Amino acid sequence: MVMQKTALVLGAGGFIGHHMVKRLQVEGFWVRGVDLKDPEYEKTTADSFQIFDLRNHYGLNQIMMAPGGQTFDQIYQFAADMGGAGYVFTGTHDADIMHNSAMVNLNVADVQNKLNKVLGVNKTRIFYSSSACMYPERNQLDPDNPNCREDSAYPADPDSEYGWEKLVSERFYLAASRNWGIPIRIARYHNIFGPLGTWDGGREKSPAAMCRKVALAQDGGEVIIWGDGEQTRSFLYIDECIEATRRLMDSDCTEPLNIGSEEMISINNLALMAADIAGKKIILVHDLKEAALGVRGRNSDNTLYSEKIGWAVSAPLRDGLTETYKWISEQIRLSAN
Ligand code: NAD
Repeated sequence: MVMQKTALVLGAGGFIGHHMVKRLQVEGFWVRGVDLKDPEYEKTTADSFQIFDLRNHYGLNQIMMAPGGQTFDQIYQFAADMGGAGYVFTGTHDADIMHNSAMVNLNVADVQNKLNKVLGVNKTRIFYSSSACMYPERNQLDPDNPNCREDSAYPADPDSEYGWEKLVSERFYLAASRNWGIPIRIARYHNIFGPLGTWDGGREKSPAAMCRKVALAQDGGEVIIWGDGEQTRSFLYIDECIEATRRLMDSDCTEPLNIGSEEMISINNLALMAADIAGKKIILVHDLKEAALGVRGRNSDNTLYSEKIGWAVSAPLRDGLTETYKWISEQIRLSAN
């Protein structure tokens, strides 16, 4: 008899976690989702969904057991105290971000280690979602030539506490792999976007914010851009992020890999792309007092991922932004009713 594979998705009420639950179910996994909250825009389809605060050690061993008293085959750790530039780069949430996310990561690996010891097994592979925010600021000062190769990570100097926590947790999972034998996979995500992602309220990322601002603007109207808009980024559509993550998880690659797009664009041009998709003319107005900008330039470098995994992301930014714009316009229409 073939046993059904099992997966635990932590942060399954969030953007990437919710998409991952759906993907794993299509692949035939039995899936448990865990989060502080339900998914915001769509009901979960997880076979089991538990509202639980992963900062709590007590009770976590129950959550981390699959049906039949087994440990899970795979764990996807997406839970983090997280948001776009308006949340992460203002400095006002630093202590919460570091404390909350670190607690979750410390608990997850520790409980898995204890379960493995008690049950005398070690089959559970843990995926950890790190971030491009862990790369040193010094290599991201030139908007035209940022360097985010995996081997540029050290000497470490991330520009935010969010990035520092990601780096420390990467190292903790790698240590858990070396000392406790837990199989670990780590991706450094570069700006993931798409439908069902946060689009308002202060935690949204720039593609969602641009789509919302453009959708709300009149034809010929103004759209406010933080800073001079010449800062560059790349954005990866959610479907490709999920595909790249599944391929990394099923590979034997144990070093951290970038998962992102190499199609770099300035924030000004991102806004103009959203306007073009909407069929609107817009005037860009720059808010030069806004400090929550992050690094000056950032782009994914996918050389190592392609080498190790033998696959590459390829969808044009415009295609993903078109889908995202459609979805956000519909959300605005629904929330106005
Ligand atoms: P998200 O905020 O939509 O999802 C994170 C989820 O974690 C939320 O639903 C939140 O409620 C949950 N969570 C937070 N603290 C928790 C706790 N104590 N207990 C239980 N649940 C808790 O974020 P996302 O965009 O889906 O990102 C997923 C992961 O990928 C995060 O770790 C994030 O740092 C990382 N990442 C995302 C991006 C991106 O562009 N979206 C880029 C780099 C890294």
